Amino acid sequence: MTSALITLHNISKSFRHANIATLALQDISLSIYAGEFVAITGPSGCGKSTLLNILGLMDTADQGDYMLADINTSKLSTNQRTAIRNQHLGFVFQSFNLIDAMTVFDNVALPLRHRGVKRAELTRRVNACLSEVDMSHRASFYPNQLSGGQQQRIAIARALACSPQLLLVDEPTGNLDSKNGDAVMQLLQQLNQQGTTIVMVTHDFRYSRLATRQIQLLDGNIVAEQQQNKDVA
Ligand code: ADP
Repeated sequence: MTSALITLHNISKSFRHANIATLALQDISLSIYAGEFVAITGPSGCGKSTLLNILGLMDTADQGDYMLADINTSKLSTNQRTAIRNQHLGFVFQSFNLIDAMTVFDNVALPLRHRGVKRAELTRRVNACLSEVDMSHRASFYPNQLSGGQQQRIAIARALACSPQLLLVDEPTGNLDSKNGDAVMQLLQQLNQQGTTIVMVTHDFRYSRLATRQIQLLDGNIVAEQQQNKDVA
């Protein structure tokens, strides 16, 4: 394998609430390589969201280093973190987070407009992303005219619009029935096979086992890792 896209070195994070400290992540060290589809699994409260928030530069660790490609993110200002997030990362959330007042086309176009992409290139890119998720025929619809599964496909298209190096996906099937959940997972697998690197948080074993690597958390620690049917820890 080539050099890691992500390297976490001894990452720890705690939260203080009502004077009680919770250690959400304890000394997490981990490398993720371009082309991988990594599922982070474990029971509620084990630190999955905290880890995904740190990977997505939405939160910072108390200790340790996080290298994204060759950038040491621990040393960045808030503005630099925002710029790197917009440039390198795509996000997909359980609740889709589409804007109801905008058409499907405009939802997918949003990150490109923020970047100042010119109209012809923007149209080309939005159409390519909609085609990738098989939703070209719904470009002029509004989110509330679509099923949950279709809305998640649009959210995935929006996340892909700026060609991120890494797609961070948080419980993508959490609001979907099993038929729509299966279809969204199939799409994520297909995107990974075409080269998109994905880190997905899920508590659903049926879906985590479809990733190329599973990382299991318990009480803020990595307790097991499994790669393509092979135990490595
Ligand atoms: P998971 O995503 O696996 O359910 P989380 O990463 O959300 O777990 O939470 C890990 C631990 O950190 C839990 O004990 C949770 O209560 C605590 N925690 C997470 N976020 C906060 C916060 N903002 N304030 C206080 N405690 C938090």
